[in-house]
Amino acid sequence: MDLSRYIRDIPDFPQKGIVFKDITPLLKDARAFAAAVEALKALFAGGGFDTVVAIEARGYILGAPLAYAMGLGFVPIRKLGKLPWETYQAEYLLEYGASTIEIHRDGIEPDQRVLVVDDVLATGGTLEGTAKLVERCGATVAGMGVLLELTDLRGRDRLQGYRLEALLQG
Ligand code: AMP
Repeated sequence: MDLSRYIRDIPDFPQKGIVFKDITPLLKDARAFAAAVEALKALFAGGGFDTVVAIEARGYILGAPLAYAMGLGFVPIRKLGKLPWETYQAEYLLEYGASTIEIHRDGIEPDQRVLVVDDVLATGGTLEGTAKLVERCGATVAGMGVLLELTDLRGRDRLQGYRLEALLQG
């Protein structure tokens, strides 16, 4: 199944010069959505993961069903000020803007092997910030999975040393 047919380009969103990759056509199609989750599961099968971490908000849409399908728990990373308990924080740069993300200090146990999931890899700042949070908890980023890697932005270069898998490249 060619999942790229279900991702739509929206020019100049959320600001001029950005081509936004809209995954909502994929999500609304039951077969395409299931195929994406199953393909990510297959990519990481046998990886010895203990938990799945994903980033607000579109990361959750893939990360939560993937965790369920893999029989793992799910740990949310959120934008600053949303998590109710004690957190670790990381600041990072986006393709458009800057942000601070947080994780609950007890979200991940030290020594756990973590699978990090997001929808789109652009400059790599989000995944880099997420990896910092996982490592701050004393755990290991054993894999990173995205639906789509925007190869021109070279985010992969910032994530050397991590196992990074993309279902699609564009
Ligand atoms: P980055 O930190 O630059 O790799 O950006 C990745 C994060 O921002 C992901 O959580 C994406 O959801 C979002 N993002 C960045 N650029 C785009 C884009 N062109 N289309 C859709 N989402 C994007």
